Amino acid sequence: MANGGPVEHGYPHLETVRAAINALYKRLSYDTVQTFATSVAPADVAFCDTDDLYLGAQRVAHEMVRHYRLPDARMIVGFREMTHAANVELAAGPEYFIELNDRFRTHRRDIGAALAHEVMHVYLHRLDLSFPGTRDNEILTDTAAAYLGAGWLLLDAFREDAASSQKLGYLTPEEFGYVLAKRALLFDEDPAIWFTSPQAYTAYTAGMELARRDTRRPPLTAAGWAGRRRYARDRRHAQDHPSPDASQPGGVPYSFTPDSTDPPGDHDGPGPLRVSFPCPTCHQRIRVPVRGRVRARCGVCRTVLECDT
Ligand SMILES: [Zn+2]
Ligand SMILES: [Zn+2]
Repeated sequence: MANGGPVEHGYPHLETVRAAINALYKRLSYDTVQTFATSVAPADVAFCDTDDLYLGAQRVAHEMVRHYRLPDARMIVGFREMTHAANVELAAGPEYFIELNDRFRTHRRDIGAALAHEVMHVYLHRLDLSFPGTRDNEILTDTAAAYLGAGWLLLDAFREDAASSQKLGYLTPEEFGYVLAKRALLFDEDPAIWFTSPQAYTAYTAGMELARRDTRRPPLTAAGWAGRRRYARDRRHAQDHPSPDASQPGGVPYSFTPDSTDPPGDHDGPGPLRVSFPCPTCHQRIRVPVRGRVRARCGVCRTVLECDT
């Protein structure tokens, strides 16, 4: 887990974050994701300065193990001087050694955030789910922690004032907000009530705006007027310029392909099309025929998609 440096903002890792949510659904299945409907409760990871450092860290780590359902895993938490914020040794188990940066000795309220990330490494390791490259794998770890109910602690560890700033994890605050918002929309949850950091709240609000935008993109019926108009224009272009390859208009998430299941010769004019677009919940590509109102169900996350194609 990285430590320090200027705080990056916006959505520089958005594509990887979306790929991470999709990979999580595919590896865990809809049913397993549903078992994470309840987030880690603030009281269960509270850590005050009068608590014993080691017992307290051990207790919070145990709470993460319980939350991620790693029944036989045992976390052994230690502290040392290091450049990173935290680190976990991914061995065969059942014991895993987690090292936390010495500074957590005096920043105990952020130990839950660090452990949410490190124990998620163990969870993904046991699932044998990883992304190639350190950067993408860390993004997967943060995204999974946030989507499965422990990562709100990571966003809450983001604090800024005139003199200093601190942030944990690889996602930007807004990206954490986005993943938490997608989770909130799925489980009808409001993590904002747990935030102690005002900056976390702001980032969550920004992320929620983007998450809602995912659900209002054409060809979904919830799309706004401007998006629908653009969609109609792109569709006309695809119909007028048939090509065997996907026609991918610039800057939009959908693309058109000829419908190969259509028997040739039974129609005049432009051939039938299919449109593919990312599922607003899990980002799986969905393909539906272009023929007006269509209802589809995402095969990965089971979201029902009302489309106007
Ligand atoms: Zn990490
Ligand atoms: Zn889906």
